[in-house]
Amino acid sequence: MNKKSVLVSGGAGYIGSHTAVELIAAGYDVVIADNLSNSDMSGVEGVRAITGVDVPFVNVDCCDREAFAELFAKYDFDSVIHFAAFKAVGESVADPMKYYHNNLLSFINIVELMLASGKHNIVFSSSATVYGEADELPVTEATERKPATSAYGNTKQMCEDILRDSVAAYPQLKGIALRYFNPIGAHPSALIGELPRGVPQNLVPYITQTAAGVRECLSIFGDDYPTPDGSCLRDYIDIVDLAKAHVAAIDRMVEDKNKERYEIFNVGTGRAVSVFELVNTFERVNNLKLNYKVAPRRAGDVVAVWADTTLANNELGWHAERSLDETLKSAWEWEKRVRNIK
Ligand code: NAD
Ligand code: UDP
Repeated sequence: MNKKSVLVSGGAGYIGSHTAVELIAAGYDVVIADNLSNSDMSGVEGVRAITGVDVPFVNVDCCDREAFAELFAKYDFDSVIHFAAFKAVGESVADPMKYYHNNLLSFINIVELMLASGKHNIVFSSSATVYGEADELPVTEATERKPATSAYGNTKQMCEDILRDSVAAYPQLKGIALRYFNPIGAHPSALIGELPRGVPQNLVPYITQTAAGVRECLSIFGDDYPTPDGSCLRDYIDIVDLAKAHVAAIDRMVEDKNKERYEIFNVGTGRAVSVFELVNTFERVNNLKLNYKVAPRRAGDVVAVWADTTLANNELGWHAERSLDETLKSAWEWEKRVRNIK
């Protein structure tokens, strides 16, 4: 089994494509598996252009057990990073079975196929959404998870539990759940970035599309929260920094440095940033004015969540490095490239 090879499920998407680049830079061979349900080949082509490596890509639905098993038989890898999932919170409330089917079945298939084929290490894409409206801030990995308020959030909790229980029961497996805070920005090359389909649900793509003239006006959802400026607080993590956290997680398992066979790490900056601060920073670093207005609160938003990153800093030896200024510049460079804006 090749310890320096990693299967990246969902690797054509936003976080997976950036992670593939960093894995290759760290000396790993990468195989990307994706059914392109929320992406297109531009992510894979971007990875190939940045790295100069003809990364193998397999168009496969991770829920299709037989087709997925063929990939496990064909490629020589020992670790999997599982990104492949649907991620729209609102849609998951309206159509929960779409989310339970895709997000759970794809993950169950991965764990079972790893067991059947003698593979060892799995990194799961979890989310700060598991903390809900947390009792303590910043949140540590020991902060209690709150009952999920969406099917999407529930799939994150359930997959964490599937990984925890599987690792406990099957000695061959090791697992790391990375709880991402708010990933933003794009690769400095502007060859890969976030490509939301339809109207963006997340703040930064909405901002960049507004700046590009694709959207008329950004709505800031609420200015009457109990925070210093009344808008919500989040921990915005640069996408390249986030990608590097996956390399650190894989290194840790491949090099047998993990303290427990199942571990959880927060991946954030440790800094709380308000919506107004983010918008103002975007305007300043990119030297433009954004059309925005204050709108009513968005249902389901937590007031504030940001990470205590001590564990990831100490154990993974990983730190967020890129500044918010740099990250928001990269987000705009990417949007300009996508829209052909000079
Ligand atoms: P994305 O939609 O850009 O990437 C996910 C990729 O998985 C897409 O390319 C999609 O085509 C693919 N995919 C989905 N279902 C599949 C299936 N059954 N078989 C094969 N491929 C499939 O999303 P992203 O932002 O890169 O998110 C990656 C992971 O990180 C997801 O699990 C998401 O829930 C998690 N996450 C994302 C965020 C965020 O804000 N972006 C925050 C926390 C956690
Ligand atoms: N937000 C906003 N306008 C938008 C999109 C998001 O004001 O068009 C706010 C949202 O209310 C939240 C923050 O930006 O306070 C981050 O939202 P996002 O959806 O990006 O991430 P999440 O809510 O999952 O943390």
